[in-house]
Amino acid sequence: MQTRQTTSNRVRLPTRVRAVEPLDRATIWPYLDGEPGRFYYQRYAHPNGVAAERALGELEGGEALLFPSGTGAATAVVLALLEPGQTIGLAAGAYFGTAVLFRTLERWGVRYLEFDQTGPPPEGVDLLWLEAPSNPFLTMPDLEAAAGHPARVLVDSTASTPVYLRPLATGADFVLHSATKYLGGHDDVLLGAVVCRSAGDAERLHEFRSHTGIVAAPDPCWLLSRSLRTLPLRMERHTATATELARRLGDHPEVEVVRYPGFGGLLSFDVADGETARKVETSLRVIANTTSLGGTHSVLEGRARWEGDRVAPGLLRLSVGLEDTERLWADLEQALAAA
Ligand code: PLP
Repeated sequence: MQTRQTTSNRVRLPTRVRAVEPLDRATIWPYLDGEPGRFYYQRYAHPNGVAAERALGELEGGEALLFPSGTGAATAVVLALLEPGQTIGLAAGAYFGTAVLFRTLERWGVRYLEFDQTGPPPEGVDLLWLEAPSNPFLTMPDLEAAAGHPARVLVDSTASTPVYLRPLATGADFVLHSATKYLGGHDDVLLGAVVCRSAGDAERLHEFRSHTGIVAAPDPCWLLSRSLRTLPLRMERHTATATELARRLGDHPEVEVVRYPGFGGLLSFDVADGETARKVETSLRVIANTTSLGGTHSVLEGRARWEGDRVAPGLLRLSVGLEDTERLWADLEQALAAA
């Protein structure tokens, strides 16, 4: 049977209200009357990127730019905004990959030193790189002391999210996220973000991103927009469960110390030694023994395997997911008993 396509039976897409934004993977868009429009080549801008950046920018109160990973975002900040010979003051105990990145970039003349972010920042640095809270030590930076320092201030707010902290409102110049973590929230998207307080910085970073091609593709940006809709609900649940687990771990005889800032889903605790930590890891049945944090599923790992003697051999990092609290506690209890 033949069907005829007429104007009346063509499916018309609604133009006013969309419950879900469409995914647009185009790398090119036609010029309008011979002129490039808002979108013309994906490396400069694309609709899903712009939509996700707008949503994140509103949450943080600044201008957001997305990158293919948190590390890509950090690379862009250093190379676009610092000059050879300048120095970064990095929070001691921040995500260990950040120091690895800075060491990698030393070849280009950018130096870094570490300092205790809970106290006054050191003299003579050009950019303060704080982490709120630090991963996996869970210290919070002294944001007031940082704001009073002449250097510009960046806060890696990955584990806080804008639900618990909006650093731009307290004087920071930049917020950085590994959006791979809570913002993406489902362990299915690698993405990073920088949110700038000033339009000039955002413009510089955007130009650098376009020229170097450190650009996030439409699919991860679409996933971020999807995930931001549930961010406050997820964070509320992460916090409720993590608060209870931190309290119970603190009372457990096998646990020497618990680090938890009082909000969010990230905590760490120490057991006696590396052997005990390995036993806990391999006895888990509900919590996955793997890396990363911020997803719906709880994950735990001993950090000494990655960070060496920077952490105690018995330090276990736990990212509390959205599962039932009693189910998670039963799993932790049986794994600690097996150790
Ligand atoms: N910042 C923090 C606090 C992190 O935990 C991580 C990764 O674990 C990063 C940055 C780097 O992010 P990505 O893995 O998305 O490159």
